[in-house]
Parts: sequence; C-alpha cells; structure tokens
Amino acid sequence: MAKMKAAVVNPNAKHGVEVTEKEIRPLRYNEALVEVEYCGVCHTDLHVAAGDYGDKTGVVLGHEGIGIVKEVADGVKALKVGDRVSIAWLFQSCGSCEYCNTGRETLCRSVLNAGYTADGGMATHCIVDADYAVKVPEGLDPAQASSITCAGVTTYKGIKVAGVRPGQWIAVYGAGGLGNLGVQYAKKVFGAHVIAVDVNDEKLAFAKESGADLVVNPNKEDAAEFIKKHTNGGAHAAVVTAVSRAAFNSAVDCVRAGGRVVAIGLPPESMDLSIPRVVLDGIEVVGSLVGTRKDLEEAFQFGAEGLVVPKVQLRTLDEAPAIFDEMHHGKITGRMVIDMKQGGSGCCGACGGGGH
Ligand code: NAD
Ligand code: ZN
Ligand code: ZN
Repeated sequence: MAKMKAAVVNPNAKHGVEVTEKEIRPLRYNEALVEVEYCGVCHTDLHVAAGDYGDKTGVVLGHEGIGIVKEVADGVKALKVGDRVSIAWLFQSCGSCEYCNTGRETLCRSVLNAGYTADGGMATHCIVDADYAVKVPEGLDPAQASSITCAGVTTYKGIKVAGVRPGQWIAVYGAGGLGNLGVQYAKKVFGAHVIAVDVNDEKLAFAKESGADLVVNPNKEDAAEFIKKHTNGGAHAAVVTAVSRAAFNSAVDCVRAGGRVVAIGLPPESMDLSIPRVVLDGIEVVGSLVGTRKDLEEAFQFGAEGLVVPKVQLRTLDEAPAIFDEMHHGKITGRMVIDMKQGGSGCCGACGGGGH
C-alpha cells in the first residue's frame, strides 16, 4: 500500500504532534485522493493535539489543506482529476438532517471534521469526500487559499453572523491567524469600521497595516473602555478569536446596547456573563463554527478578487512541531503554511527543498 508523510497526533510528543509515515488506504465510493500542496497551521490544531476536546491519537491533523485531485473513486460527480480543492474542517456531513437541510451543515450531529474526526490535510496526501472539497477559484494563490480554508471562512462567516452593516463599528478580539483576516473581511468586504484588540503589539501593528481603524492592547489599557470611548457608546458587534476568557468577557463589555458578540475562539473554559447586562442591555452572545461550503466559496472569491490578502510564510512538514511551539508562544504574525513540496516525501531532493 502506498504511504504518505503526515503530522499525526501523538500525546507523547511535544505539543502532541509528530511527523511520521502513514498508509494511504484504498478509496471508497464518492471519495477522491488529493495530493496536498499546502496546509496552514490553525490554533485549533494545537487544541486537538493537546487533547483539549478528547484523545485523538493517530489522527492526521490539518484543516487548511489545498491540493490537486489525483484520483477519483466510483460515484464522484463533483470533482475531476486535476481540480484544485480545499480540505476544510467541514469534512463531511450527513446531508439530510435538520441542520444540513437548513443551511447550517456545520452543526450536523453526524459531521466529520478534517484533522479531528477524519484524517486531515497536514500530510502529503488526503482522502476527501468529493462533495465536500470546495474548488479553489482561478486567480487565487493556493498558499493564500489555505488560510482562507479555515481562518478566512471562519471570520467571514463570524462577521456575517455579527450582522454588522457598512459604517458600523466591529471589535475583533485576537489579531492572530483568524483575527487578521477578520479585520480584512470586516473592513474591505463588509465596509465596517474596525477595532483590533490583541495583547501583542506586533500583531496590532499588522492589524493596522491590514485596515484596522483603531487598535488597543488590553495589557496596557481597558479595551472595553477604550472601545466605548471611541465609538460613541460601544461597538455594534464584536467577534472574539482570542484564546482567552478575558477577551470574551471584555467583548461583552465593549458592545453597545443591542450589540452582538460572536464567539469564535475555542479556549476550553467558561466565560462570565452578567445576567443584568444581557437582559437590561439586550446583548446577544452567539457561537459561530467555521462556515458552510457556500461560505467558503464566497470567502475564496473575495480572496481571488484581491480584497483579502492572507499573509503566509512557507515552511516544511518536518517543521510542524516547531510551528506548533511558535504558535503556542504567540510568536506567529499571519499564518505558517506547510509547503508539502518542500522536504515532503514526494520531492527528489535535487531542488534543495524549494520544490519544482
Ligand atoms: P492565533 O494563535 O493565531 O491567534 C490568537 C490571538 O489571540 C493571538 O494573536 C494572541 O496574541 C491573541 N490573544 C491572546 N490573549 C488575548 C487577549 N486576552 N486579548 C486579545 N487577544 C489575545 O490563533 P488562531 O489560529 O487565530 O485561532 C484562534 C482561536 O480560534 C483558537 O482557539 C482556535 O481554536 C479557534 N478557531 C475557531 C474556529 C471556529 O470555527 N469557531 C475556527 C478556527 C479556529
Ligand atoms: Zn482552523
Ligand atoms: Zn446532517
């Protein structure tokens, strides 16, 4: 059986990730084999590898995968050999339940998620359900597309859920991989005024470069007070991508009456929620989970049109544990994207690691 090289969950390895070999199983009905070109590292990969949502030993990580279809099984109608497609968190859903039938397929109770409950894209190869691999449009750089596959679509959908209208204020808590793209979608696609909030000044500087009107560091001043002062009473909405309960609590404080807080970040803990604040000020707090296939198609298209430009840095698959360490310590600005051609098992080595 053919083999692939993959970043796999191993609780005994540092940060729970190990690069190893794994067999590529034969394709089943309606599946396709994708040769992965790029896969971004999302903070969710760190949560999965750390066992934050249960023991996932042996699973191939990664849900920001982009690759080329190499083979299709019987039944496949949606894809053909040569197509460039994504491997997203929404790996497969049942297609027939209440959620799947009402445009909320990410909430399907029988869902499979890449890099969590199905082998994901942080590997030289990945087997996908052909109906769930979204095609990457012409004109979108595939390394940049990888960031839109989770970070982009998640914040794009989160801002949709926030319901912010042109000219209104939105606070984006966390200006990391997700938050930076959130700033760009909010500003360039939704026409909102944007305040970025992060504990790291470098990320705030990059958020400013990416279109944030204002930035604030909660380690230096009270972010909610700052936001209320500069927005005539509070933001109309907030999206929270920070991996910190303090940020969720501050987001609830920063919105004006009737404001909506969209929870996106996934720290495995609880937030405070003052009942009088929620009731008397009519605050809404709602979770948002990645995006549907249609959301991803839309998010890709804005990337292809140049409205949203992910900042990516290419790395090798062997560097996956090092990238996890850098993300754990908050050292990454933009996104680290694994280039499978660099040092992947498919490379001849003659290119000096640069691919062909
Ligand atoms: P990241 O590490 O790139 O970014 C997190 C950012 O939060 C960093 O810039 C960090 O400095 C900042 N931060 C930390 N503490 C903060 C605080 N108190 N206030 C403001 N900012 C603070 O991570 P990422 O890849 O952007 O992922 C962010 C979170 O979103 C993770 O928990 C991830 O699991 C989750 N996520 C959720 C979904 C979803 O569908 N809901 C999808 C993808 C990722
Ligand atoms: Zn993700
Ligand atoms: Zn379903």
